[in-house]
Amino acid sequence: MFDKILIANRGEIALRVLRAAKELGIATVAVHSTADADAMHVRLADESVCIGPPVARESYLNMPALIAACEITGADAVHPGYGFLSENARFADMLDAHNITFIGPKAEHIRIMGDKIEAKRTARRLGIPCVPGSDGGVTEDAEALRIARDIGFPVIIKAAAGGGGRGMKVARSEDDIVVALQTARTEAKAAFGDDAVYIEKYLEKPRHIEIQVLGDGKGHAIHLGERDCSLQRRHQKVWEEGPSPALNASMRAEIGDVCAKAMQELQYIGAGTIEFLYEDGKFYFIEMNTRIQVEHPVTEMITGIDLVNEQIRIAAGAELSIKQSDIVLEGHAIECRVNAEHPSTFRPSPGRIQSFHTPGGLGVRVDSAAYQGYVIPPHYDSLVGKLIVHGRTRNECLMRLRRSLDEFVVDGIDTTLPLFRKLVRNQDIQNGQYDIHWLEKFLAAGGMD
Ligand code: ADP
Repeated sequence: MFDKILIANRGEIALRVLRAAKELGIATVAVHSTADADAMHVRLADESVCIGPPVARESYLNMPALIAACEITGADAVHPGYGFLSENARFADMLDAHNITFIGPKAEHIRIMGDKIEAKRTARRLGIPCVPGSDGGVTEDAEALRIARDIGFPVIIKAAAGGGGRGMKVARSEDDIVVALQTARTEAKAAFGDDAVYIEKYLEKPRHIEIQVLGDGKGHAIHLGERDCSLQRRHQKVWEEGPSPALNASMRAEIGDVCAKAMQELQYIGAGTIEFLYEDGKFYFIEMNTRIQVEHPVTEMITGIDLVNEQIRIAAGAELSIKQSDIVLEGHAIECRVNAEHPSTFRPSPGRIQSFHTPGGLGVRVDSAAYQGYVIPPHYDSLVGKLIVHGRTRNECLMRLRRSLDEFVVDGIDTTLPLFRKLVRNQDIQNGQYDIHWLEKFLAAGGMD
């Protein structure tokens, strides 16, 4: 096992990793920018190192500073959390060259899944069902038009290097396609420094359903059921739940089995998520995330398995301790991402939290690095915390979520708590009847007015 883990992240996920490391008896090193000197992850870690100024490029994304921090403190492993360097194959290689373990998959797998064209090709080869579309990148207008006619309009043009919901353009007819292609390419170049794009059939009313997987690279891989992340705004997840209100046990077992077998064949190491769009009883692969995800607690609440603990154990060379038959889904869990944003305009609202009171009681978990008096810096994402609630049934979960949201107090800044208080009382949400466009339509129709 490792002696000391350096956590190359901040906020609630740095705390989450720190907790798992402490429970394993491993010492922790926090890193922070000058803007985060007062942060909770710095206070709770055994040691801390300042790695640069507020701007992430010079601190949390600064690879030489992170390696130097490992060397100064003698850390023998790095957990990257999510975001920042978590899906950076070069960082994994660099750590390897310094004999420091990257707690994550092989650099080769990060590379494949980081290029969406390559990822889709690999998924297809592994027997995972994909969205119909171009076989690889598309450069010529004529070629784009031919493919779009072939699969039928509407189509979506997506950046190969895409992420965070950026670099996507929908074309509804032949007239739109040239402009959509150009815009997608320009945006992709600006956002990711790579203008490669590809085409997919645009699904009109899918749900976003993702399968959590774990592999040990030693021939074992399992799935831990699904999360339904259909409630999105601008392709960003807002509310996640598991199990999905749209799946039954046999559908879950079928797609889960496909994913577990694929990961076994790939000899995948660590935690990962295979993301699908789901429409009319069919699954369509969109991408794979080779890291722990923001919404991982949903799976932890219904399986009782600590995913970060598993990540650390697997990275240290352990075999998977759990068999597929050990995974029993119990009850229902919902996560709300509470952001420091205005609940209807979504304008970021950094600043000082005047009062902070988190809900508690049976089945209630809050993952947050905030506290009373904490100042949310403007430099990073706007997550204040995640409220995750578990119940024996979906209905119990919704009732518990409703009272937990009412108990949650964050004063001094705007948060999205009022949005969740509306959602939990909404009939469609209560019925589990929503697709990936539901939330945008709800907001456009003045749902928050
Ligand atoms: P990113 O990596 O930027 O998050 P994804 O490929 O995971 O991009 O897609 C993000 C979201 O965009 C999906 O959850 C879905 O809402 C929407 N989306 C992506 N592909 C399609 C498609 N073919 N049809 C309809 N919506 C799509």
